[in-house]
Amino acid sequence: MDYKNDIAYRKETLKKLLHTIQKSEDLIVKALYDDFKKPEFEAVLTETNYVISELKDTIKNIHKWAKPKRVFPSILNFPSTDYIYKEPYGNVLIIAPWNYPFQLALCPLISAVAAGNKVVLKPSELTPNTAAIIAKIIEETFHINHVEVIQGGVEVSNTLLAKRWDYIFFTGSVAVGKIVAKAAAEHLTPATLELGGKNPCIIDETANLKLAAKRIVWGKFINAGQTCIAPDYILIHKDMKIPFITYLMEEITLAYGKKMEKSPDFARIINTKNWLRLTNMIQNEKIIFGGETDAEHHYIAPTLIDEPDLESAVMQEEIFGPILPILSYETEADIAKIINRYEKPLGFYVFSDNNSFAKKLITTYSFGGGCINDTVIHFSNKRLPFGGVGHSGIGAYHGKLSFDVFSHHKGVVKKGNWIDLPMRYAPYKDKLSSIKRILNWL
Ligand code: NAD
Repeated sequence: MDYKNDIAYRKETLKKLLHTIQKSEDLIVKALYDDFKKPEFEAVLTETNYVISELKDTIKNIHKWAKPKRVFPSILNFPSTDYIYKEPYGNVLIIAPWNYPFQLALCPLISAVAAGNKVVLKPSELTPNTAAIIAKIIEETFHINHVEVIQGGVEVSNTLLAKRWDYIFFTGSVAVGKIVAKAAAEHLTPATLELGGKNPCIIDETANLKLAAKRIVWGKFINAGQTCIAPDYILIHKDMKIPFITYLMEEITLAYGKKMEKSPDFARIINTKNWLRLTNMIQNEKIIFGGETDAEHHYIAPTLIDEPDLESAVMQEEIFGPILPILSYETEADIAKIINRYEKPLGFYVFSDNNSFAKKLITTYSFGGGCINDTVIHFSNKRLPFGGVGHSGIGAYHGKLSFDVFSHHKGVVKKGNWIDLPMRYAPYKDKLSSIKRILNWL
């Protein structure tokens, strides 16, 4: 079991993992449903299939990604050949959240294993059925001294964080991200922090409103709005607000029917604590659509809020639920005033047919990642880095980048012995002007 040095062994374990996941797909989908009624379609699209695709891509490319990469040498070192070696960090801790509990636990795990690390994974305690199936899959696939799942809540998390790790990969809230960063700092452990924020969705007067409404409804209400990159609030040009709201209502009804609580395609809020947080949030707001709640089933209907006060809870914290506030703007200064109230978001969306306006917003504001004329889908391209900036996170991953995240990149120069230029050696007398000329020329 030489996972550190034997790439073929790593590949074999990943193939075994692929087989176990494919074999267990129905059970994973059921666990996700049992945890918070995640619809089967969403479970397959955003969890099992996403992980399977990540695994296949990693298995296909592992040898290429792990190979030392030859880079152009510096003329100052002539003669030499220069390489970047990918070295596993060693012991990796992964702490996962509950909202995409399978994908956000397994994807970093796959890359950490591919890069040759020993891994401890702590899934979220709020999705116990998914955590249990993850533990079973990992137990069936890996030796316990290679990859281990440790289940539990905050206490277990804190016990793990108190230990010394070589890398920590955390996905979750900003508040806990700070706790993780402090624990990592104690041992100077590098860490990736995948966090959240308030993601704006700006719609100007040139946007295709009907299509925008369709794409926003999907990106906002998938997983019942419990998505880190879901649009958090709408900022729409004042002249477009009324027709846009009409389209939004139509699209929500088309997606989930008139009796939305009966829709098999709409998930539930994860627990009572979050259900209460969200129902309190809409209590004193101007609800123009939805607003129905059911404590027993942790249900909150897709809900539209008109022009909330910027000081209200719904505009203070990350919503992380099926509530969509709609604010209007008149000028670009109005947009700036609202966006700049918040920390840098994880997601950012612009709907516009005016390329220069869209480009201006994309380049003016700092955010993790985003889309023009759509929502959320940037997540699905493995060639795009996924991560936050500022309070929405540190570091990024997906695809090959994930392999690199879990590898220390070691620069190595292999010097040739067939000639030894005397320039750099003391005594330096008379050599300064020549070295200056060479450095100037480079
Ligand atoms: P969370 O921060 O409450 O929990 C995440 C993990 O940390 C869990 O495993 C939990 O057991 C552990 N944890 C919780 N409190 C802890 C503490 N005090 N000390 C140590 N560990 C602790 O987050 P969550 O509620 O599971 O997920 C929702 C949040 O995660 C949202 O803010 C969302 O935006 C963010 N998120 C970000 C991404 C991303 O990719 N950037 C993806 C999903 C969710």
